[in-house]
Amino acid sequence: MKRRVFSGARPTGRQHLGNYLGAIQNYVALQDEYQCIYCIVDIHALTSLEDTSQLQENIHEMVLDWLAAGLDPKKSILFVQSHVPEVMELHTLLGMTTPLGWLLRVPTFKEKVKLQPHNVNYGLVGYPVLMTADIVLYKAEVVPVGEDQLPHLELAREIVRRFNNIFGDTFPEPQAKLTPFPMVLGLDGKEKMSKQLDNHIELALSPEETLERVMTAVTDPARRYRHDPGHPEVCNIYRLQQYFNEFKSGGIAEQCRRAQIGCVECKELLADAINTMLQPFRQRRAAIAAEPQYVTDVLADGARRARLIARRTLKEVKQRMGLI
Ligand code: ADP
Repeated sequence: MKRRVFSGARPTGRQHLGNYLGAIQNYVALQDEYQCIYCIVDIHALTSLEDTSQLQENIHEMVLDWLAAGLDPKKSILFVQSHVPEVMELHTLLGMTTPLGWLLRVPTFKEKVKLQPHNVNYGLVGYPVLMTADIVLYKAEVVPVGEDQLPHLELAREIVRRFNNIFGDTFPEPQAKLTPFPMVLGLDGKEKMSKQLDNHIELALSPEETLERVMTAVTDPARRYRHDPGHPEVCNIYRLQQYFNEFKSGGIAEQCRRAQIGCVECKELLADAINTMLQPFRQRRAAIAAEPQYVTDVLADGARRARLIARRTLKEVKQRMGLI
């Protein structure tokens, strides 16, 4: 039997370059070697979402991006977290062996408390336990994620170790799998690219919109005038050039250092390269979007297949915990 891969992402709608370079790229690459299970974690989204009116639309847009990027529902299981309710049962059971102190110390929990002081709900504290349940329900061994998720995954491993120590070896300890671009910075050049921070470039933008977004990016702050020599090593646009303009990037860096190319031209080159690379993706996306029923069918089939595995694991867990 193939080893299993699991990854989940919140239903944030259209995916951005950070999601793609940090995670989706690996989702696609792992499909032949592993049995891959990819989940849109809608319950996780509820920990911060008070207005849920966009949720279904966001799920749909996200699946369009995943499919267009190359996820193949014949090879991989694609489903929505709440469609396999066994995960909530496992979450409760894992909660019985996870010390509260571990959860209260999680840096992202403390950040969320600051970000949404009016909505410090119980689900926020349990987030890492639900994330662990997501992964171990499928006994996944490999978890493709961006660098920002590493602390959560480390905690998931601790939760697994503790459960296994108490009730015997039940779950494999999941390992993170990073891409060569595990942390994509946003257009501000400081924070991680994220929809919430509005510093992102969506994959599904038109070429004109892509150029417009790239033009707003912060470059080398020391380069104030066209004739100032630049420092590509501190420039986020240059980091993206290294990926999208792999073969030209050495030359671009040299020209930047000698002030032979300005930031505007450099950004135009980048936008062109992004648009060229994403053209087939955008065509596939438009074709899939023309058949909305297809996405519904993919998710229904994914949930059915995921549930078969989930039920087996949950039965084993209950036996080990003395519940049956
Ligand atoms: P967002 O940060 O846009 O809300 P999620 O937190 O749902 O997206 O992340 C989905 C996946 O994409 C995760 O594996 C995450 O690590 C990865 N990811 C998100 N943003 C970035 C980024 N800027 N660079 C690299 N990976 C990222």
